[in-house]
Amino acid sequence: SAKEVINKVYQEVKNSEKKLSEQEKGKVADYIPELAAANPEYFAISIANINGGIESIGDFNVPFSIQSISKPFIYGLALKDHQNNSKFSVDDRVGLNATGHAFNSIVSITEKEDHKQNPMVNAGAIQVTSYLKEGAERDKWKHALNYMNSLSDGKAFLGEKVYRSESATNQNNQKIANMLFDFKMIDENPMDALDRYTKACSIMVTTKQLALMGATLANGGLNPVSKKRILSNSQVINILSQMVVSGLYENSGAWWTEVGLPTKSGVAGGLLAVYPHKYAIAVFSPRLDKAGNSVRGQAVIKKISQMYNLHLLH
Ligand code: GLN
Repeated sequence: SAKEVINKVYQEVKNSEKKLSEQEKGKVADYIPELAAANPEYFAISIANINGGIESIGDFNVPFSIQSISKPFIYGLALKDHQNNSKFSVDDRVGLNATGHAFNSIVSITEKEDHKQNPMVNAGAIQVTSYLKEGAERDKWKHALNYMNSLSDGKAFLGEKVYRSESATNQNNQKIANMLFDFKMIDENPMDALDRYTKACSIMVTTKQLALMGATLANGGLNPVSKKRILSNSQVINILSQMVVSGLYENSGAWWTEVGLPTKSGVAGGLLAVYPHKYAIAVFSPRLDKAGNSVRGQAVIKKISQMYNLHLLH
């Protein structure tokens, strides 16, 4: 059963970790002060299937900030907001190709003539957040949070501490947002777009909620618990494709080759993998590798994929 699988993998990953060097075990993100304070030992796995069943082990009731795992979902919302707008293509404006660079790279924005990135790295994600439905600023954010909640159980909330901590230290993202404006990639005040992006990254979730968000994608956009259609099938295909292309940033190619599942990471230690038409696996463990991906998270997903031959090209 799913419960047995995650129990087993949870123990195996913990045991095999004993052989790892400190460097191999990874490090909690330290460029956002509030994340640096996280307990590095937190570890949770949840698996949610397309029938609404959820199994969990470990610290699955501990909320953590979703960080970059908001990116595929906010991209979905931008697609949804513009689905009837034939004059505006989110995909054309943002770009859909791998950058090969770190998630917060500035170089990658300048090196391409058209400056286009993809919605999974900071530049593209700030752009996408800027394209959410018109409306008053407060309403745009409310619109985003409501949507994020509709993908899960409605209990996600803004983590004020993370939000304030990141807002006070996100000079690099400010540079990115200003460049996007200079290059005419976004039209509004770049600090408004960045603020909305930072809020989306500061949404607090548990692995249970995250797994359910993933199960909504596995289920073609229909939330398996509320039974509401949140995204269309084709929007889900776009989202999952972008997770393949850039979900683990500069390590996405190696990850796809080895694991073969659309996956997205966040610097608070979340990792979400989707096995289409079946289930989604969410892991939380704050220690990260150099690219900013959870070390235990990757170990868990890799093991499950290999045990059950989940590689989608298998
Ligand atoms: N909010 C983080 C940032 O912009 C998200 C990065 C991430 O999770 N990789 O730096």
